[in-house]
Amino acid sequence: MLPVPTTNAFVPPRRTLMGPGPSDVYPQVLSAQSKPTIGHLDPLFVAMMDELKALIQYAFQTKNEMTLAVSAPGSAGMETCFVNLVEPGEKVIVCRNGVFGERMRQNVERVGAKAVVVDNKWGESVSPELVEQALIANPDAKFLAFVHAETSTGALSDAKTLCQLARKHDCLTIVDAVTSLGGVELRVDDWGIDAIYSGSQKCLSCVPGLSPVSFSPKAVEKLSNRTTPVQSWFLDQSLVMGYWGAGNSGAKRSYHHTAPVNALYALHESLRLLAEEGLENAWQRHQDMHQLLKAGLNKLGLEFVVDEDSRLPQLNALYIPQGVDDAEVRQRLLNDYNLEIGAGLGDLAGKAWRIGLMGYGARRENVALCLRALEEVLS
Ligand SMILES: *Cc1c(COP(=O)(O)O)cnc(C)c1O
Repeated sequence: MLPVPTTNAFVPPRRTLMGPGPSDVYPQVLSAQSKPTIGHLDPLFVAMMDELKALIQYAFQTKNEMTLAVSAPGSAGMETCFVNLVEPGEKVIVCRNGVFGERMRQNVERVGAKAVVVDNKWGESVSPELVEQALIANPDAKFLAFVHAETSTGALSDAKTLCQLARKHDCLTIVDAVTSLGGVELRVDDWGIDAIYSGSQKCLSCVPGLSPVSFSPKAVEKLSNRTTPVQSWFLDQSLVMGYWGAGNSGAKRSYHHTAPVNALYALHESLRLLAEEGLENAWQRHQDMHQLLKAGLNKLGLEFVVDEDSRLPQLNALYIPQGVDDAEVRQRLLNDYNLEIGAGLGDLAGKAWRIGLMGYGARRENVALCLRALEEVLS
């Protein structure tokens, strides 16, 4: 026998989360998650799932039938899109202007497909001109993949224009909306996005671990015409849809995997709160809080990494001032103010901080706390 571990119950501190995710979770979402667990084929649970699907469709602004939440974090949503849609040997144009574009490229390679990379500098948005050049130079490309809101730098790309270009050149689009969903304008049907994935823990302010995804009818057709089986059993959407019950309408829900029942209560509640606020009001609130934060940061002399016209309101990347110790500042914010901000990632590691204003975190009191704490720690 191993010795009995003498461990106390884990009691997390109450932090204010203003990093790149997870974001502050709505109190209502935390209490929704602690409701009694019921069977995942219980008729009442199935009814909740139907509402959840309608709420995800609203958040994405889509009528896509194949809309659901993958039972795993945003990275699994990314992988779901690539493994289902892209077949070995196909060509995918991948835009890379930060960490997550590079992860898309790795997904393409692992599927056994060929990635044509369109590079933009870190902190810049994806250039439609460079994308069009790549589309012209690669008439055999089947997909255009890009990140709408690059969380590693805070740059927003013009998803509407990029999707127009892809359509003109007969490519389907795969769009990362992990950080954009709920924080900035996003219209899946109007913009003609074919496959999109997001995450529960950024601007939805839900607990981490779920990934809303949606496939257009054209994407579903591509999936149905596959000549090779999807190599991931768990992420194969043709199997998952048997559970979410929208593959063949009227089909009975069958067991695929045990749904994360309580986490789905939480997502239902966070999307319900988003719908109650109204999508456009939520976008505006993120913009308003960003303006408030920006004014205070300018007074502190901090400089943004991204140009004003492509800056994400929900992710503010700032250069660390000369002579300031990155780790020490973040440590003091955490220890003295219970405030988490994000470190730089990849090319920006050690050079930038990332301040998130996501979902429930995009509030006046958070902005005020962050500005006061930064002022005191930096002086
Ligand atoms: C956070 C994030 C992901 C990954 O989501 P996880 O939930 O951490 O797996 C993917 N893309 C972008 C743009 C992100 O910000």
